[in-house]
Amino acid sequence: MPVWNPWHGCRKISAGCAHCYVYRRDASVGRDASVVAKTADYDLPLRRGRRGEYKLQPGAGTIFACMTSDFFLEEADGWRPACWEMMRLRSDLQFAIITKRIHRFAACAPPDWGDGYPNVSIYCTAENQEMADARLPLYLTLPIRHRHICCEPMLGPVDFEPYLAAGGIEYVLCGGESGPNARPCRYEWVQAVRAQCVRQGVAFHFKQTGALFVKEGRVYHIPRRLQQSQAAKAGIDYPGAAPHPPRPDAAPPEQLTLPGA
Ligand code: SF4
Repeated sequence: MPVWNPWHGCRKISAGCAHCYVYRRDASVGRDASVVAKTADYDLPLRRGRRGEYKLQPGAGTIFACMTSDFFLEEADGWRPACWEMMRLRSDLQFAIITKRIHRFAACAPPDWGDGYPNVSIYCTAENQEMADARLPLYLTLPIRHRHICCEPMLGPVDFEPYLAAGGIEYVLCGGESGPNARPCRYEWVQAVRAQCVRQGVAFHFKQTGALFVKEGRVYHIPRRLQQSQAAKAGIDYPGAAPHPPRPDAAPPEQLTLPGA
């Protein structure tokens, strides 16, 4: 799954950030993750190989943008316009942006955004009921063609149904938290969101169990390498009732699921 990180570093903003893997990983190499800086991959979508071909080709799948930061971070205000332009120019690619800063979307959208670039999906993260109620009412009013909810790391039971019933949400993703300090994810929370999606005909994906998974009262410590496969074994993904534009064909890479998010 291709990832495009035009800048790196972020600031924590809500409960889902507590164990942000960017902070954890940067700390392990003595780097301060709160320092936001452009990366060498800033112009990746327009970069070409020796024969003039784009390095990012459509067959590689959806490009997840800004997975070691937040696309709508204030520090990136001067860098973002060129990124929008790259996404517009590469209309042959699908891009996905996961954000905890949907409140900045209107101020950050490009002038020609209109109803949304057809090739850009915006995931709004709602890791608990508080963040769902804070972010989703605004999210539903924004001109976004492909709206997806990211409930990862799932920190508690969440009632998404009023927001799903309002229409306009294509897809909901749930997943537990990874890492040594992972908070528990309870299977009944995941099942409840799945049931909400089925009732409302919205596609659902159980992406990963997380490291601390609770099912029928039993606590499971699940190693990283098994978290996605164990979720897949549950077999509870739901394709949605109505045909809609294809969602990104897979979830973000497992090691990149906490941020942006
Ligand atoms: S989880 Fe996402 S929004 Fe939070 S600090 Fe990490 S990168 Fe930033």
